[in-house]
Parts: sequence; structure tokens; C-alpha cells
Amino acid sequence: MFEQLGLIGCGLMGGSFALALKRAGLVKRVVGYSKSPSTTERARAMGVIDVEAPSALLAVSGADIVLLAVPVSATEATLKAIKHLVTNDMLIMDVGSTKRDVIDSARRVLRDHIGSFVPCHPIAGSETSGVENADADLYTGKQVILTPIDKTNPQHLQKAVRVWEGLGCTVLRMQPEEHDSAYAAVSHLPHLIAFALMNAIVGQPHGKDYLSLAGPGFRDFTRIAASDPKMWRDILLANRHELLAQTQLFRQALQTMEQMIETGNSEAIETLIAHASDTRAQWRMGSKKPS
Ligand code: NAP
Repeated sequence: MFEQLGLIGCGLMGGSFALALKRAGLVKRVVGYSKSPSTTERARAMGVIDVEAPSALLAVSGADIVLLAVPVSATEATLKAIKHLVTNDMLIMDVGSTKRDVIDSARRVLRDHIGSFVPCHPIAGSETSGVENADADLYTGKQVILTPIDKTNPQHLQKAVRVWEGLGCTVLRMQPEEHDSAYAAVSHLPHLIAFALMNAIVGQPHGKDYLSLAGPGFRDFTRIAASDPKMWRDILLANRHELLAQTQLFRQALQTMEQMIETGNSEAIETLIAHASDTRAQWRMGSKKPS
């Protein structure tokens, strides 16, 4: 389907995309660039990319599909670096966890070529990062959210849908605002709570001892606290307004439960736990149907 993928950011998400696209027979050649030459070199040694590019611009040269898989805060600088070689025929996608800031950057930089850009967020990945964790199966069976804007070229949008479906993903479309509100609630807030919880425990006098006693519930609850600090710093700041709206709601829910515990209101506590427990038992990952 494509001649050449220009991959900018040969880490977990970008490397996995390149491996999956090659395995699906959807691209002939992958040219990659990462900030550190050692990452790009490793990506080539692992067979994730075929050719190392010395700059983002040269990674895009001759590409008919481009993937930005860099931290969201690097989007604008990356687009500026490649904009002289962007054409209207080129499909450009990203994988950023936030969408409004990425789209604002793309509008500012790409201007007349904004139609080439299809904003994407694959609901895949993990607390690991780096090309060494790249996996051709990372996207298989996962959801990908596309947040096109009014100027997105419909043909590029269709191509993007076919690419992700070709990797075994279910594609959903959302408004960028709707995306950022939803993921503030179900991704960014849980990460914030996991980071805060770890720090709250380890910051108390016997915290380290307590941690050594923790079991599977704690392990499951805090898995995401091991995520990459720079990547999550960017995400939490990029979506700060939606995130702070969610922290307010969470604080209210926490205070309600604290009051019930203080007053020993066992019936109310049980009702709230039952509500949460039923909701969690019925929840299925990725159950939203494409609209
Ligand atoms: P990662 O494994 O750390 O990879 C990021 C890559 O980007 C690294 O190779 C890094 O290069 C490169 N990079 C950083 N700044 C750059 C720049 N200015 N120019 C070129 N390359 C640059 O992180 P990741 O997990 O793949 O995350 C990439 C994106 O995916 C982020 O926007 C994140 O929000 C999004 N995302 C992540 C997940 C997840 O679970 N991990 C899920 C969904 C979406 P060096 O190695 O040289 O530093």
C-alpha cells in the first residue's frame, strides 16, 4: 500500500508501528529518526527500521506515510523540522495521548498542508518504553481513536482508517475535545493518582517497609506508576484543564467516602462499594462501538 514510512520517534509506539506495518505487508521501506542517534541505530539493528535518517526532515524525504511517535511536547518542533518536505499527497499521523494540543501545533505549523494530518491515539502501549520493547503485536485487537478536524482531507482519513484496520485495530472517531475529556478521566487521572499514591506511601517514615508487605492488589493498582516520567509530565500538562476538572470530581468522591468512614455509616459505605464493584464487574475494555 505504501512505498516508504518516515518514522520520527523510534520508541515503543513508533517501533511497534513500523514492525506491524512491515509484517502486514503495508510498506516497502522504513526510514527512521530519533533524537538520540543511538536509538535510531538500535532500531536499525533490531530490524525495526531499514534506514537511519540523520534528521527528522530526511526521514520524511521520499515518504508517502509519516508517523510522529514523539512525546506530545515535541510535536510542534518536529512538524517545524519537516514542514518543507510535507506535501498534500503525504499521509501524516501521530500517536500522541492528547489531541487538542497536538492539533493546535499542526494547525500553526502545517497551514496549507493541514489536510495531510490525521490525529490518532492508539489505546495501546504500557508502562514500558523504548525501542527495545517494540512489539509487532502491540496494536493487534486494540482501539485507535482518530480525531479529524474540518480541514482533514477525507481521502487521508480513509487511508488512516485502512492502515490501522490493517494492523488489526478497531477505529473510532471522536472530536478532539471529547477525546481529551474522556482520557483525562480514564487514563490521565488514574496515572496521577498512581504517582501520588506511590509518593504518599514512600514519603512516610515506615513507607518502604509498608511497600515490602504489599500484595497483588497493590501491584495491579500501581502498575502504571512505573511509567516514563517525561512522557507523563507532558501528558498531564498538555491536558491540565480537563485533568483538573477530573481531580475535583475525584476529590469529592474521596471526601464523601472519608465522611462515611469517619461517621461509621456502614450502610452508605457498602452501597458505594457495591456501586463501584458492579460497575467494574460489567466493564469491558474497548467496548465502545465505532459510530
Ligand atoms: P518512547 O518509547 O520513549 O519513544 C519516544 C521516542 O521519541 C524515543 O525514541 C525518543 O528518542 C524520540 N524522541 C523524543 N523527542 C524527540 C524529538 N524531539 N525528535 C525526534 N524524536 C524524539 O515513548 P512512547 O511510549 O513510544 O511514546 C510516544 C508517544 O506515544 C507519546 O506521544 C505518547 O503520548 C504516545 N502514547 C504512548 C502510549 C504508551 O503507553 N507508551 C500509549 C498511547 C500513546 P530517544 O530514544 O532518542 O530519546
